[in-house]
Amino acid sequence: MEFINHLVWHDGKLLGIDWSVWKIIGWLGNAVFFSRFFVQWYATEKKKQVVVPQAFWWLSLIGSVTLLSYSLHQQDSVFIFAYAFTWIPYIRNLMIHRQNKAARIVCAGCGQKNPPQANYCPHCGEKLAK
Ligand SMILES: [Zn+2]
Repeated sequence: MEFINHLVWHDGKLLGIDWSVWKIIGWLGNAVFFSRFFVQWYATEKKKQVVVPQAFWWLSLIGSVTLLSYSLHQQDSVFIFAYAFTWIPYIRNLMIHRQNKAARIVCAGCGQKNPPQANYCPHCGEKLAK
């Protein structure tokens, strides 16, 4: 018990980390950014095909902007540069996701929504009107 207590509380600090509001913001950014891997992995395992869900880009954007604000607070040029431009492809991918969703073709046969490049409905086989 003493050993576990020493691991958790070290030098009067939780996990030996000097906690502050900015440390909490930084760790939240890390948690959000890291969670995107599990979201992408789960989606890929579910479809048995490599997919990048929209949530991956949202988590990337929120996590990297949070880490960018933390790095600006820390005034660490290496850390700032690492997150200064990553938001550009994240936003672009979110825009393309949105455009793709809007361009989906509704099947006249079954009413299912299909990707814009589809010629036949994969749900009922009906030829899609373009
Ligand atoms: Zn159909």
